Amino acid sequence: MTAHTAIRIDGNALAAKVRDRIAADVTALKSRGITPGLAVVLVGEDPASQVYVRNKVAACAKVGMHSVMHRLPVSTTEAELLALIDALNRDATIHGILVQLPVPKHINEKRVLEAVAAAKDVDGFHAENVGALMIGEPRFVSCTPAGCMEMLKDIGLIGEGADLRGKHAVVVGRSNIVGKPMAMLLLHANATVTICHSGTKDLAAQCHQADVLVAAVGRPRFITADMVKPGAVVIDVGINRLPESEGGKLVGDVDFDGVNQVAGYLTPVPGGVGPMTITMLLQNTLVAANLAAK
Ligand code: NDP
Repeated sequence: MTAHTAIRIDGNALAAKVRDRIAADVTALKSRGITPGLAVVLVGEDPASQVYVRNKVAACAKVGMHSVMHRLPVSTTEAELLALIDALNRDATIHGILVQLPVPKHINEKRVLEAVAAAKDVDGFHAENVGALMIGEPRFVSCTPAGCMEMLKDIGLIGEGADLRGKHAVVVGRSNIVGKPMAMLLLHANATVTICHSGTKDLAAQCHQADVLVAAVGRPRFITADMVKPGAVVIDVGINRLPESEGGKLVGDVDFDGVNQVAGYLTPVPGGVGPMTITMLLQNTLVAANLAAK
């Protein structure tokens, strides 16, 4: 008897498919004289952030979008950063503005995120866009959860007459960036949703109810096979770098090898949610450019 293995949801392949569609839409917009433009702002020298912003700028170029990168020194004051955001808000060639998080501690993150014009908030972090999602009229949705929903669409769980009615979705993690918007999107897709966090009692039992389990915890291999219902769809948002003593590689929040033997579908790390996150940033920038064109 061959051992069961989950169907792998290939984020790279899905991202390539969606980016082809975005590139075609960009070409169409350009023929009307509009080139979607994204401004990426990085304050400081955080090595992981530098990789993220480089990838985002490169992804823009590949679909034909215009992008500008603003690298500011760690000594940048909050007033200087707010002045740059104000200038970008008024720049007609820029449709989306992204301030890479985390910002240095002397800068108030909330003030910065609220300073980005809601119509250019392609990260979906502005309170106005968070509220729009909450009332079921989403404009810009946080890119990582939006990418997870594209994955559920790709495997036919939602879209084209299908939704999550009668299914139980469990989200582990309640950050404003991932957990909360993820739960809201699943709710709008008619799932019965449970949100778990560090204060949750008997997490394993909660997770075990899930037909769709989303792990956004930030702890390597935290979700183990015994926590997963056989056949469940498991989406691993986590990106954790193991210490050099353990090989130094990137792993998710899900124990891939174990859960692979129980789940019905599973996303790998790397090559799962990560590429979809950047793709949704491009998608949001396209939406912003279309809105500006109207
Ligand atoms: P946060 O640290 O902001 O949130 C983590 C959440 O996990 C919190 O709500 C926390 O609960 C919960 N949590 C922590 N420990 C436990 C525990 N023992 N039991 C139950 N819940 C727990 O992280 P993010 O949401 O920003 O990111 C989560 C992961 O996703 C990280 O690995 C991050 O690197 C990755 N990520 C990946 C992206 C991608 O593109 N693939 C994009 C964004 C993030 P509490 O609120 O109670 O503290």
